[in-house]
Amino acid sequence: VKKNPSEPEFHQAVKEVLESLAPVIEKHEEEFRKVALLERLTEPERVVSFRVPWTDDQGQVQVNKGFRVQFNSAIGPYKGGLRFHPTVNQGILKFLGFEQVFKNSLTGLPIGGGKGGSDFDPKGKSDAEVMRFCQSFMTELYKYIGADQDVPAGDIGVGGREIGFLYGQYKRITGLYEGVLTGKGLTWGGSLARTEATGYGLVYIVEEMLKHVDSSLEGKTVVISGSGNVAIYATEKAQQLGAKVVALCDSTGYIYDPDGIQLDIVKDIKEVQRGRIKEYADQVASAEYHEGTGIWSIPCDIALPCATQNELDLDDAKQLVANGVRLVAEGANMPTTIEATQYLQENSVLFMPGKAANAGGVATSALEMTQNSERLSWSFEEVDAKLKDIMVNIYAKVSDAAKRYDQEGNFVVGANIAGFEKVVDAMMAQGLV
Ligand code: NDP
Repeated sequence: VKKNPSEPEFHQAVKEVLESLAPVIEKHEEEFRKVALLERLTEPERVVSFRVPWTDDQGQVQVNKGFRVQFNSAIGPYKGGLRFHPTVNQGILKFLGFEQVFKNSLTGLPIGGGKGGSDFDPKGKSDAEVMRFCQSFMTELYKYIGADQDVPAGDIGVGGREIGFLYGQYKRITGLYEGVLTGKGLTWGGSLARTEATGYGLVYIVEEMLKHVDSSLEGKTVVISGSGNVAIYATEKAQQLGAKVVALCDSTGYIYDPDGIQLDIVKDIKEVQRGRIKEYADQVASAEYHEGTGIWSIPCDIALPCATQNELDLDDAKQLVANGVRLVAEGANMPTTIEATQYLQENSVLFMPGKAANAGGVATSALEMTQNSERLSWSFEEVDAKLKDIMVNIYAKVSDAAKRYDQEGNFVVGANIAGFEKVVDAMMAQGLV
């Protein structure tokens, strides 16, 4: 805390990870201490912070902060998204970069961990403003990234449009047509199924969790927070597997549709009109709209937080348990507070942390990198099948690590240990770097 003041989210993430690694750390205490392993693991290899000047449509110059946190490259090039949101600061990106290291390790693919972004708010900006911002952002960022060095992707506020503008500028400056970004469009190096990957992957791992308790998604009532990329495709896959998704939200309020969400309407509002989730209730008679938070008060069997960090706190967890929730899996990064996670686990709710549950996105990004290196494009079915395999494998690794340390069913401990083991092995082998 003294070393990294004003970074509460980063402290929270490190605390959560290190606490659950206690049994591994105790076992190797001497060995780790000698090479300051934990100190190195919690210090990013590099943090780049830069100015992003751009001109708005009124001719006024605006200045935002830009960052790239290159956290750990022990097992591969840095990989992790870019987030454009007014709340972005160095501490939040460090928390996300730190989590990314373990998540990427869990995928079983050769990717290190990083994260970046800006406090730029794309909301309400014209396409031309977003383009000028992205071009200015990349004019600095290009110096630090490359197909074999650091491969950013999208995250909150960075979708296909932004990746396109960023990629165009990278190509223009460097003259390289290479897989330097993932989440690209299908006509210029993108992968089929990348858009769906995080949401689909989340539901694949939920399916696997349920299978191990002799259950399935068929007929289950599901509440999903958010209405962005992850939430939409988690809804799609959950519905395909027979579940009924009854609620979605955005940062202003939530919709409840007891008849089950009509996803084509949500997609039109969010992906085509770039509107607010409230509009769903204007179009669908069976739906209610409620201002504010409160989505977790809706009774459900399965809750999938897919919006943002710390959106599900202890009170929410108590309400979910009181309403009989059986399973919570994190589509977003760290959406559940530490206290809420503990409460859910103590009350026998199956809980899968984001670094395992939402790893399908980055895994498919790594598959996009592979396709770019081969200069080939795989079919949707091929990518989707590989994604499913990866999620089933993640479940197996997480569940096995928990068992090895006598914490069967504790997937938080399992995910941290399984992710950690591979990174540590690589760091030890590569000496003091
Ligand atoms: P999007 O920007 O597409 O969607 C985010 C959604 O969450 C929006 O509906 C947004 O509403 C809502 N939201 C934001 N803040 C709050 C809040 N405080 N309360 C309620 N709702 C809120 O992002 P993604 O779907 O891509 O990402 C969601 C989460 O998943 C993030 O934590 C991200 O890091 C994580 N993730 C995403 C991956 C991906 O492939 N996309 C991969 C792995 C993790 P509003 O429009 O009002 O802001």
